[in-house]
Amino acid sequence: TVILGLESSCDETAAALVTHDRRILAHKLAGQEAHHAPYGGVVPEIAARAHVEMLAPLVEATLDEAHMTLAQVDAIAATAGPGLIGGVMVGLVTGKALALASGKPLIAVNHLEGHALSPRLADPELRFPYLLLLVSGGHCQLLLVKGAGRYRRLATTIDDAAGEAFDKTAKLLDLGFPGGPAVERTAAKGDADAVPLPRPLVGSREPHFSFAGLKSAVLRARDAGKYRPEDIAASFQQAVVDCLIDRTTRALDRVDGVTALVVAGGVAANGAVRGALQQLAGAHGLPFIAPPQWLCTDNAAMIAWAGVERHAAGLTDPLDTPARARWPLDPDAERVRGAGV
Ligand code: ATP
Ligand code: MG
Ligand code: FE
Repeated sequence: TVILGLESSCDETAAALVTHDRRILAHKLAGQEAHHAPYGGVVPEIAARAHVEMLAPLVEATLDEAHMTLAQVDAIAATAGPGLIGGVMVGLVTGKALALASGKPLIAVNHLEGHALSPRLADPELRFPYLLLLVSGGHCQLLLVKGAGRYRRLATTIDDAAGEAFDKTAKLLDLGFPGGPAVERTAAKGDADAVPLPRPLVGSREPHFSFAGLKSAVLRARDAGKYRPEDIAASFQQAVVDCLIDRTTRALDRVDGVTALVVAGGVAANGAVRGALQQLAGAHGLPFIAPPQWLCTDNAAMIAWAGVERHAAGLTDPLDTPARARWPLDPDAERVRGAGV
């Protein structure tokens, strides 16, 4: 089986061809950093226009690199949400057009499922169920992953996502865009104990997250004028790591029979986050699985792979499937149940 995957939910335009036996035949990605950098963040309208320009040529280049035609593909998997609605529509409409033209089925992929299953593309040994820390630009969740389309959300953030906190901290410290990698580089030159910062929700009963207060504390530390940006970045990164570890520990205590502790999403590219989770998994006698860094941030290989898993489960979608700005993986947990927070 070969699946063509399309991704356009944020500021990465991407296409990839992935097989059922985990061969990435080709993958192409066009970032839009230069388009958005002047504004210090992703501008939805600019993103949507860039996806329109980039996606069709990327699909062609992807097929070319694999020496394949659309006729040789088994299905087309496109991100159908959640994300910036203009961009999602571009990718989904392109996927529908390719499906219609080729007579192949459409698979409407939840972008979060792309992240959630990406560790299984990277590691053939990874079996369900696993505990997943999904840390990205728009989400921070702990999920019990039971299978394709089968998720139980144990926790989410009550305000900002972890990646959002990295991006806002980068902006406050004037480190440039995108923020996560810039904060990590700067933190490497700083002292993580230099700036006292809070650890929101650490120790609380439910394993939820909160990062808004941390961002405000970074702002106050900057305005205090007595700390080096390197030290603020290092102390911030350590505070995020401490929160992620405490909350993940709490979730580990609540699940039985998981095969591994797994991390995915853009923030999973962070070395300090990976290192701390690796230690935590070891202390619980669990394998730790993290995809390679390029597979953590947005890409189309993870969308194609989610397509592989859904195709294998017989899950395809009609051509009138809507694009969705919001689309929870676990609809039963849509609302944060505030108890214990
Ligand atoms: P979502 O997946 O929730 O819809 P998104 O697709 O925008 O959001 P991703 O591409 O998965 O998010 O991840 C991007 C986020 O990851 C950004 O917030 C970015 O700052 C963060 N990030 C990327 N690399 C690193 C890093 N090395 N350290 C910390 N954060 C990072
Ligand atoms: Mg991006
Ligand atoms: Fe993402």
